[in-house]
Amino acid sequence: MDVSNLIAERAVRNPLFRLLAALLRRIDAWAFDALDARARAQGWQVRRPAPLIRVYRNPDFDTLTRCLACAGEGVTARGHCHACLGSGRVRS
Ligand SMILES: [Zn+2]
Repeated sequence: MDVSNLIAERAVRNPLFRLLAALLRRIDAWAFDALDARARAQGWQVRRPAPLIRVYRNPDFDTLTRCLACAGEGVTARGHCHACLGSGRVRS
């Protein structure tokens, strides 16, 4: 179970707030359902920190670590780092 997509919802008693919350959920679904499905199909992580906000992350970035030759800066005293090609990151 992916707990990052669970959104705690409080019981709202005010009918106007309930209506607005339902409207917000529908707009959120309309705006993001297709994008979320496409991101998940590509293996990306999808986080929903709040309604109408998404954070997409490619887990391939987990395979990168800081380049030891340049300490993650991408450059050395001699110029462009050849170990990481200037990115500061290498595959672990
Ligand atoms: Zn480097």
